Amino acid sequence: MGIRLGKVIYQSQPGVLWFECPGCGGIHQVFIDDTHRNKEGVIVQWRWNGDPDKPTFMPSVLVSKDDPKFRCHSWVKDGRIEFLSDCFHDLKGKTVDLPDWD
Ligand SMILES: [Zn+2]
Repeated sequence: MGIRLGKVIYQSQPGVLWFECPGCGGIHQVFIDDTHRNKEGVIVQWRWNGDPDKPTFMPSVLVSKDDPKFRCHSWVKDGRIEFLSDCFHDLKGKTVDLPDWD
């Protein structure tokens, strides 16, 4: 199964990282290898700075993009998460630390 890589990152399987989102309360995942494709067949991949304690992911993480009631949109930079103004939750427009994985 998966392993905790550092303070805030969990690797659920090779190439797939999870972090807890303090905005929507869910778990978001990013793919850091090139083996994952979306419905249109386009490779979905984030760049990771390799730091499991203070991660940076590029580009942004967007969940439920077609449903404003559940949309969560963020940048993860140096272990902090910056929520964009199109999020549904109260942390929109704010930047906070990523919570420790537990
Ligand atoms: Zn979220």
